[in-house]
Order: sequence, then structure tokens, then C-alpha cells
Amino acid sequence: MNVQVWGDKPMREDDTSGPLQTHWARVRAALKSEIDEVLYRNWIKPLTFVALRGSEVVLAAPAQFKRDWVESRFADRLRELWAAECPTVRAIAIIVDGRKAPVAVKPAVEIAPPPRVEPAAPAIDERDDIGSPLDPRFTFENFVVGKPNELAFAAARRVTESNGVTFNPLFLYGGVGLGKTHLMHAIAWHIRARQPRRRVIYLSAEKFMYQFIRALRFKDTVSFKEQFRSVDVLMVDDVQFIGGRDSTQEEFFHTFNALIDQNRQIVLSADKSPSDLEGIEERVRSRLGWGLVADIHPTTYELRLGILQAKTENSKSIVPPKVLEFLAHRITSNVRELEGALNRIAAHATLVGRPVTIETAHEVLHDLLRANDRRVTIEEIQKRVAEHFNIRLADMHSARRARAVARPRQVAMYLAKQLTSRSLPEIGRKFGGRDHTTVMHAVRKIEELKTGDKQFADDVDLLRRMLEA
Ligand code: ADP
Ligand code: MG
Repeated sequence: MNVQVWGDKPMREDDTSGPLQTHWARVRAALKSEIDEVLYRNWIKPLTFVALRGSEVVLAAPAQFKRDWVESRFADRLRELWAAECPTVRAIAIIVDGRKAPVAVKPAVEIAPPPRVEPAAPAIDERDDIGSPLDPRFTFENFVVGKPNELAFAAARRVTESNGVTFNPLFLYGGVGLGKTHLMHAIAWHIRARQPRRRVIYLSAEKFMYQFIRALRFKDTVSFKEQFRSVDVLMVDDVQFIGGRDSTQEEFFHTFNALIDQNRQIVLSADKSPSDLEGIEERVRSRLGWGLVADIHPTTYELRLGILQAKTENSKSIVPPKVLEFLAHRITSNVRELEGALNRIAAHATLVGRPVTIETAHEVLHDLLRANDRRVTIEEIQKRVAEHFNIRLADMHSARRARAVARPRQVAMYLAKQLTSRSLPEIGRKFGGRDHTTVMHAVRKIEELKTGDKQFADDVDLLRRMLEA
């Protein structure tokens, strides 16, 4: 068996050595140079690195109030610094760990799965190492269904209900924080509990890539393939990260085809539809769309309120209904931020010992509220930039390549990337059907010009501030 290879140094989420700790050391060092010495010592130094879960870095603080304070003051900066170290990092989660300065705490999410029914299956544990841990809160019961996610939810349920395969693959896509990971974990929990004989593997695309590269290094790609090819349900989260890596993409595709040929269920998630995925070969892309493609739409007010009510139902909440309505109304970006806002409000209320009002919600959440108000559209950006450089709006879409129009167009693409959550292909489409590589080139070009030309940088920043205002 290949115990050596897999058991030797698997990417355990609680690994305390290795590159992640080095990244964390560098993030701390960077922050240390930016903030007051005392602040650093009191708040940042006590944080420990727990895990990298998908695109989320999990840190632990020694007490709830420290956690809340760090989150409100430094979460954004920590995320930026982490993203500079590992570009795949998109979010920071800070948990509370009461133990005294542990080197590493067990991730709160890594609880044992429901007991297995088959006792004589020695290989199972080590095989399960290829998966990522499941969050115990991410179950079907805890998922609030509304118009925006009902198709994805129904499809996820279907996967758990049939023994065979109904649609393959199930491809879930939607913006960040809308519940893709939640649904995938829910599928895994459900099958593990009800059909323990079915082997379900859930893992992030990053982990898939990591293991493949590892297998290459140990010249053990055969057992790598075997491991994946013996599962009944394979779920790979955030497959947009596989884009661009030719060899892993190839391997992913082989594994994918082999499983589909054997009639095994595959569930994938991404932040874009198969046809919008960047850096993925055309034949792979079209194959990804063969099954059921279910998108999770941005939340509606009703869904947001429903989620808030569900989240406060069990905890004897000190957040009155009026405040929940206020949150559902104002925090529109995604469910993760909505949850973050609710936690912050609840923490505040506990700390000051007074019930929350809309006024306190305003105060506690001013940064979040501001970010949620800022909804710039690509059309506005094009209009402002065209006015600023005194060119025709139509030239934002035209094929003219003269520098006098091409440069402002690049500035507009750059700002569209910075200020909206649109993907590169989406931005390209809005600029007269240009390719995503053109947008990427524009973004790089403007960044380059900004570093070399102070006046130009000021100009672009001014535009940016006007658009944000
Ligand atoms: P994604 O993977 O799409 O970025 P997640 O699945 O990580 O998003 O969801 C972000 C957070 O929002 C999680 O804590 C999840 O439990 C919560 N969440 C998202 N959608 C729902 C929903 N419909 N009901 C309850 N919680 C939700
Ligand atoms: Mg996710």
C-alpha cells in the first residue's frame, strides 16, 4: 500500500510546520511594521494560525473580545496580507480558542464524522485523508431555502437520495459566500449518515492540486489515480482554481472522465459557470456543463431575513426583529458577510450588556454598511472615465486602437476589475465583446503605469474615489 506516501506528511489542516506557518509569520511581520507596537503586542501577537480551509484562512484568538476586536479592526488587512502571500486566500475567519497560546489548535471544524457502520475496513481512514474536513454546521437542516438557491438545493438533495446517478456532473456555481460549500458539505454529511457504504470524498480544488503535485514528486501518480477512482461520490470545491495549471487540469479531467464512465456521481462548484471559467481548455469546459448546471443567485431580502431568523432562533437572541430586518435590508453582498454582521452585533450586545438598536447596529457595522452601499456598475465606470478623458462613450466598446481611446478604455477595465465583482470574461463582454485576456492585459498595464507615473496614478485614484463616493 502507499501508506508511506500518504501517511508521511499529508496536508493536514492542523499542520504546524511548513509553508503555511511561514506565510503566517510573514503576514504578522508585515502587520507589525504597519501598526503601533502596543496594538501589535496586545492583539495580533496572541493570534495563532489554525488552518487553511479552501480559500479561507482560519486564525484563533485567545478570547471572544479579542477575536471581535481583531475582526473589526484588522480582518480586511489580514486578508489582504494573506492574499499577497497566497493568492487563493479570499477570506479570514477568526475563531476563539481558550487554551493558553497553543502552537496550533485543532480546527473547530474537524469533528469526527458519524460512526461508520462497517467495522472491517482498515483502508478507509487513510483513504479519507485525501478529503478535506467537513464543517459540522453545514447541513441540509441548517440551510435556508429561497428562490435564489432552490434549484441548487433540490439538486443537492437529489444527489443524496438516489443510489444511482441522475445528472453528472452536478455543477454548482455562484458568487462567494452564497452557500456552495455549505451544500457540498451537506451532501457529504447526509450520505455518510444514511448510506455509509457509499464512499464520498469532498475536497477543495487546491487540495486536489496539492496532492497531485505531491504524487508527481513521489512518482506515485498511479495510486493517486486509484484513490480517486474508487470513490462513489467525488466533490471538488472551487474548481476555478484548477484553471491554468495544465498538468493538474489534465489529471483532473482524466479522473473526472474515469469516474463518469464508471457511473459515479461527481459534484463540482465554482464561482462561475463552466463556460465562463478562465484558463480551462474548451473540451474540459464543455464537458463540465454536460450534467446539471445549477447557479445560486444573489440573495433576496426574504432569503436574507430567513437566514437571520434561522440563525438567531436557537440562541436566545438579544437582537430584536427590527434589527434583523435592518441587516437583511442593508447587508446585501452575501451570506458570509451577513453572518459576520450578525455575530458582530451579538458580540457587541454581550460586551456592553445592552440590547441592540438600529443606532448601535449603524455604529458597530459602519464599515460593512459602507462597503455594501458601494455598488458601482460597469456602465457608470465607462461613463465617468469617458468624461474624464474626454472621449466618446461609444469608444469604450469600439475596436479603435489609437492610444487616445485605448488607454482610457484600459483604465475603465482596470476600475471595473477593482470596483465590481465581475469576472474578467464578463468585463470583456461589456467592452465590446473583448476577450478576458485583453482585460487581464489592461489590468496589468494600468498597474504598471501607476507604479511608474505618479501623475497617472493620482489620476486613476481620483477617478476611483469619485466612483466610490
Ligand atoms: P460559498 O462556498 O458559496 O462561498 P459558503 O457555503 O461558504 O459559501 O457560505 C458562506 C456562509 O454562509 C456559511 O457560513 C454558510 O453556512 C452560510 N450560508 C450560505 N447560504 C446559506 C443558506 N441558504 N442558509 C444558511 N446559511 C447559509
Ligand atoms: Mg466555498
